Amino acid sequence: KKYVYLFEEGRADMKNLLGGKGANLAEMTNIGLPVPPGMIITTEACKEFYLGGRQFPPGMEEQVREKMRVLEEKTGRRFGDPANPLLVSVRSGAPVSMPGMMDTVLNLGLNDQTVEGLGRAAGRRFAFDCYRRFLNMFGDVVLGIEHARFERILEKCKERRGVNLDQELPVEDLEQVAAEYKALIERETGRPFPQDPVEQLFMAIYAVFNSWNNDRAIVYRRINKIPDDLGTAVNIQVMVFGNLGDDCGTGVAFTRDPATGARQLYGEYLINAQGEDVVAGIRTPRPISDLEVEMPAVYQQFVSICEQLEKHYRNMQDIEFTIERGKLYILQTRTGKRTAQAAVKIAVDMVHEGLISKEEAIMRVEPAQLDQLLHRRIDPRSSVEVIARGLPASPGAASGKVVFDADEAEILGNQGEKVILVRTETTPDDIHGIVASQGVLTSRGGMTSHAAVVARGMGKPCVCGCEAIRIDYEAGEFRVNDLVIKKGDVISIDGSTGQVILGEVPLIDPELSPEFLELLQWADEIRTLGVRANADTPEDAARARAFGAEGIGLTRTEHMFMAPDRLPIVQEMILATSTRERQAALDKLLPMQQGDFYGILKAMEGLPVTIRLLDPPLHEFLPNAEELAVEITRLRLTGGNDEELQKKEELLKKVRVLAEFNPMLGHRGCRLGITFPEVYAMQARAIFQATAQLVKEGVRVFPEVEIPLVGDVKELALLRQLVNEVAEQVMKETGVNFEYSVGTMIEIPRAALLADEIAREADFFSFGTNDLTQTTFGFSRDDAEGKFLHEYVEKKILPENPFIVLDQTGVGKLMKICVDLGRQTKPDLVIGICGEHGGEPSSIEFCHRIGLNYVSCSPFRVPIARLAAAQARI
Ligand code: ADP
Ligand code: MG
Ligand code: MG
Repeated sequence: KKYVYLFEEGRADMKNLLGGKGANLAEMTNIGLPVPPGMIITTEACKEFYLGGRQFPPGMEEQVREKMRVLEEKTGRRFGDPANPLLVSVRSGAPVSMPGMMDTVLNLGLNDQTVEGLGRAAGRRFAFDCYRRFLNMFGDVVLGIEHARFERILEKCKERRGVNLDQELPVEDLEQVAAEYKALIERETGRPFPQDPVEQLFMAIYAVFNSWNNDRAIVYRRINKIPDDLGTAVNIQVMVFGNLGDDCGTGVAFTRDPATGARQLYGEYLINAQGEDVVAGIRTPRPISDLEVEMPAVYQQFVSICEQLEKHYRNMQDIEFTIERGKLYILQTRTGKRTAQAAVKIAVDMVHEGLISKEEAIMRVEPAQLDQLLHRRIDPRSSVEVIARGLPASPGAASGKVVFDADEAEILGNQGEKVILVRTETTPDDIHGIVASQGVLTSRGGMTSHAAVVARGMGKPCVCGCEAIRIDYEAGEFRVNDLVIKKGDVISIDGSTGQVILGEVPLIDPELSPEFLELLQWADEIRTLGVRANADTPEDAARARAFGAEGIGLTRTEHMFMAPDRLPIVQEMILATSTRERQAALDKLLPMQQGDFYGILKAMEGLPVTIRLLDPPLHEFLPNAEELAVEITRLRLTGGNDEELQKKEELLKKVRVLAEFNPMLGHRGCRLGITFPEVYAMQARAIFQATAQLVKEGVRVFPEVEIPLVGDVKELALLRQLVNEVAEQVMKETGVNFEYSVGTMIEIPRAALLADEIAREADFFSFGTNDLTQTTFGFSRDDAEGKFLHEYVEKKILPENPFIVLDQTGVGKLMKICVDLGRQTKPDLVIGICGEHGGEPSSIEFCHRIGLNYVSCSPFRVPIARLAAAQARI
């Protein structure tokens, strides 16, 4: 079996077998670029190494020896020759790039004899510089001795000599360092440093194979979801030297600016240096543009190689190079990592340059990465003082005064103050505070905690689960280590990175660059899946529209009930003891709701707006029972106002009556509409009066009334009739005819299973996948995420958190059944999704596949969804 390939025997498309680094070295060799000769041991050899209990597969060693002879012939040098030794690098290279996870050894083949030969041929100082580097890397990578221990020896030597830089050390010192390194190795391993180059070589290969399963690599693979069984290849390459003098050097460059995408070389180099010196930060590297002055010919050659590589790979490249005595060598090329901004610009520019198609451009931008572009962020040119780090729960950055209470946040916010709401965690009672804040910081809770979900929905920055901060509500402060931050102090948070920063930071606005707009336009031409937004306010609706939303897929009416001027009226309605009392409260709410709907419908002129009737259980609008009980006790003890006490006691009684054992499965959704039809009737009236008003004003509007939590067609039939009656009344009263439709959310498995029946009464379906996921799994989201879900993911019972990434196998299957049944009854049934999954790229792809008409997501995710929908089609 062939385990070893010469570079000239490989190709770029052999990445799985040869690893990314090897396949590209092979490709570059074959297109005639100056690559030092070498060979690649395949990933298959690595896999067999593990299958055989960490033993080289039979025949592999012989093939390596054979190919070493080829390298010897090509260079005219011999491996281990004391007079003119061949040196090689042994480099890891997996099929998927895992930067910094595995290791590389340079200058292999040196020993006490060959170092002398190298010294005679190229200079003794240089030879010992290579030797000490080799001993260090070999000791670290192959023998497992901490790099820092070598570093300490070198540092001591520099101190003794009174110099700062390695290159300032004279040869005697380097010899001394090498000797001490060898002694360290012998001390640590109990055997002398291996002098035999062939032994060195196989030890290094063994170490690289082994490094596939070092802890770092395993963790990296887990985080990045890279399979564990790919294995790594090993590249053995003839050394070229950037540390031979001032006509030598080494560097790295991107063919375009990886931060902005600008079409210009971007990189750094160091004169008289080797390998990792550039990134090691010992000396400050110089910008690549200096090379044009310093070595014009080499620079010109490098520029043209960069162009050639970009054309060849049709993508931005990240290139490692070394200059030996004025001659340029290319040591690596790979697709360059880039920011979202650069990704968009490069993709669009490359279409204009004729390098790639529009479809390819669309596929090259990672939709999730676009998040970076759609929020205010910290000006990257500013310096900041990070005091703590939490989870990056909702992207964007914000500064403001610390506030610990939602009501206070609201008061200050309404006065035009910028505040950051800081809580251990948030609840639905804090919504008004979140609305009025610039951002939210919590010390508890994960990426899908209440604060995170709400903040994402509103497009506000949120850092959550920041356990380093200790909040003391009583004292009005929080602590991080010894630092005390008081109420009113200014902090900043960056929800894209999870940073908590002291003081104010300069922010820059999200910019939809011309390239971004162009890319989205191409996406719109390609996609068939519609994109709507979830929006509860006219401002959100307008923003969504600006980002390209083609309608509103979900307007939640309960947030409108939470507003502080309305909550008392809502409570009146709930606490009413007679229908008359209730109607009086509803009459007060009607004009308010009508105003809400007027604003949203108007902002979405010409586009459909789905409005969901009241969904949450009523007790969510009432005060917390425990807090009430505490207040009552306090009133009793202080002998407070009797009337007030009585009122509170009544309230508590009512709260207790409304309390539910399992609110998620309780008296909510259409069940409220069935028991309190006057509430739904008021909402329908508000919608239709707003509609009639707008139609009169000549505005074209398309309200879609949505009944939540339906599980049986009769529920829907009953409520649909109620809505229809109100519509007719309003038409009669106003003398205006208008269009509207009535449909339902699908969020109960029974509804999905009986979709053929339900479709008879529905003009549209919309999957509420947050609830559908809860009800299908039988998980209560808040409990699951706090208590066991992370273990389910860790133990691979579930591949992902199903509240973030749609569970295609289970919940998805139910959706598919529902779509098929629903369209059996009504082939043209409009079906969408409005759960949070509507903005998640892999879920969007699934929605496209099962034939949904649209996805609906938060306004800030609309561009992401447009792109993901186009990708789903390609
Ligand atoms: P990584 O995957 O961590 O980037 P590499 O295998 O690319 O590791 O090696 C790191 C650096 O070592 C390269 O950037 C290059 O500068 C240097 N290097 C590797 N092989 C050689 C070689 N044959 N000659 C000179 N320098 C080399
Ligand atoms: Mg590299
Ligand atoms: Mg729901």
